[in-house]
Amino acid sequence: MDQGEDEPTNETLGRIANQESDLRKATASILMQLSTGRIGLSGYLNRINRRESARCNCELGNQTVNHVLLECPLLQNKRDWMRNALSDRGVSLRRDELLARPEARTIVAEFMVRTCLLRQYQTVDPMALGVEECDEK
Ligand SMILES: [Zn+2]
Repeated sequence: MDQGEDEPTNETLGRIANQESDLRKATASILMQLSTGRIGLSGYLNRINRRESARCNCELGNQTVNHVLLECPLLQNKRDWMRNALSDRGVSLRRDELLARPEARTIVAEFMVRTCLLRQYQTVDPMALGVEECDEK
């Protein structure tokens, strides 16, 4: 693409560019995992014999993409944040919108990182999304 050699190349601009590139990669990776269902959630890990149970920690269902995005009560606070962020951009909290609307991409990806559920599987550096710590499992 257009990586102009004649643009300002001071350290700050370079760092910002790197962060944006990491953010795009992290977001794309998470969105791909969500839409294929091949993701570090028990529902999938169980299917590929990487985890004994497909159940979510809330015990209300299997830990699937839908469950995590829309249902799991353990993630309600984080989901409220996501709902607010989405509604600012005119996106509803519905699976078809979450995974299809371009405006939703970084929000959904950040939600997934904030859930800390992908830690054992993800190739994404949470720092790329500005999420520095996982406060719960
Ligand atoms: Zn759950």
